[in-house]
Amino acid sequence: MAETVRCPTCRKPVDAVRERRTKDFPFCSERCRLVDLYKWLSGAYVVPGEPAAVPEEPGE
Ligand SMILES: [Zn+2]
Repeated sequence: MAETVRCPTCRKPVDAVRERRTKDFPFCSERCRLVDLYKWLSGAYVVPGEPAAVPEEPGE
């Protein structure tokens, strides 16, 4: 049974069964993983003291 998640960066469907074994999961690629990392880091500098706003995934 296919299990699919959305890449947090580009929203592309990611095959969870296959990709969860990679270091990039749940991202579709290393590029998207780094984009998210930089976004998180820059956000942490822009709003010190504020909890990072993590967009909630829409429920199942
Ligand atoms: Zn992606």
